Amino acid sequence: MPEKNLEALFLHHLKDIYFAELQIAQTLPTMVSAAESPELRSAFETHLRETQGQIGRLEQVFDILGAKPASVPGEGILGLIREADAAMRLFAGGEAFEAALIAAAQSIEHYEIARYGTLRAWAEQLGIPEAAEILEESLDEETDTDEILSEIAEGAVNREAV
Ligand code: FE
Ligand code: FE
Repeated sequence: MPEKNLEALFLHHLKDIYFAELQIAQTLPTMVSAAESPELRSAFETHLRETQGQIGRLEQVFDILGAKPASVPGEGILGLIREADAAMRLFAGGEAFEAALIAAAQSIEHYEIARYGTLRAWAEQLGIPEAAEILEESLDEETDTDEILSEIAEGAVNREAV
C-alpha cells in the first residue's frame, strides 16, 4: 500500500507544481510574442526567467526530500493553459486581446500562489524549514507577478478611459 500521509501528499503536490512550471515555461514564450504592449511583453519575459529559476528551486526541494524530480500531470494547469490558448484565439485582433491575455495569465498565477502557499505550509508542518524557505521565494515571485499584471491591466484600462 502506498503511503497516504502528509509527506506523501507534499510530494504529490510538489510533482504537480513541477509539472505546472514545466508547462508554463513552454507556454510563456507564446504569451511574450502575443503581448502587444512593451510593459506586458517585458513582464512575461521577466517571468519566463523567474519560471526557469523556480524549476531549479523545485529540483532543490526534491533533493532535500531525497527524491528524484518527477511530474504528475495536473488537470488544473492543463485546463488553465487551454483556456489561455482559447482566449488568445477568440480575442485575436480585438481591442480586448490584451485584457484577455492578462486575465488568463493571472488565473495561472493564482493557481501557482495556491500551490506554493499550501506547499510552504506543509513544509513547515513536516519540519523541513529549508524547503519552506525555498518555496516561499517562488511564492513571492508569483505574488509580485500577479500584482504587476494587475497594474498593467489597470493602467491600460485607465489609458482607454481617457
Ligand atoms: Fe511559476
Ligand atoms: Fe508564475
